[in-house]
Amino acid sequence: MPTSADPVAALRDRLTAVDGRIADAARAVGRASSDLTRIVVTKFHPAALVRDLASLGVEDVGENRQQELTAKHGELPDLAVTWHYIGQLQTKKARAVRSAASVVHSVDRQRVADALDAAAGPDSPVLEVLLQVNMTEDPGRGGVAPADIRALAEHTATCATLRVRGVMAVAPLDEAPASAFERLARYSERVRAVVPDASWISAGMTGDFAEAIAAGATHLRIGSAITGPRPERG
Ligand SMILES: *Cc1c(COP(=O)(O)O)cnc(C)c1O
Repeated sequence: MPTSADPVAALRDRLTAVDGRIADAARAVGRASSDLTRIVVTKFHPAALVRDLASLGVEDVGENRQQELTAKHGELPDLAVTWHYIGQLQTKKARAVRSAASVVHSVDRQRVADALDAAAGPDSPVLEVLLQVNMTEDPGRGGVAPADIRALAEHTATCATLRVRGVMAVAPLDEAPASAFERLARYSERVRAVVPDASWISAGMTGDFAEAIAAGATHLRIGSAITGPRPERG
């Protein structure tokens, strides 16, 4: 059925299709899709797309660059969506990220936790944070090395204005997603040894969300399967 004539209808169709696949993947492993938060990653798309998604009932959106997060959040002040920051974070951007996002998935070192904590104003709500784990051998990739997860959890837990909710990762290209997400579930236990209720696992993108659901993911970050192809990087 051709839907491309109406972009919002096409968006709704892709959203419905992805939600159906999420429900199927959850059912296949005996999980309830109500336990899953589907975050629509809107990076490189205009703010208007976020507004369209909200009109379709989307409550959670993800951005991976601070400037883009700040711009879209500023353009849509009235929109009742939760902004998730999923990109690499430089300490000097912490204040801007904190003023737009309610959840930061990418805390990967103590200085980033400290910068986010220091960015709290007197009335700032507690910021929910996930510890991003580097699943590769390449230290240049974002994320804390698995060996350092526990220390990062201990440190971040002492930051008064942050609440450690769990872990986040991107599956490496050279490992089967199922295997990577099983490892991530074990890394999640290291955080829960420090913060017992930090049960969130942010994992699964367009190409691997079914495997992430099977391995226990609670937060899915899905972009192109819902938004369509991303425009060229600006
Ligand atoms: C872009 C991005 C996603 C979504 O990717 P898709 O393959 O388009 O679903 C998820 N997580 C992070 C960290 C991203 O940067």
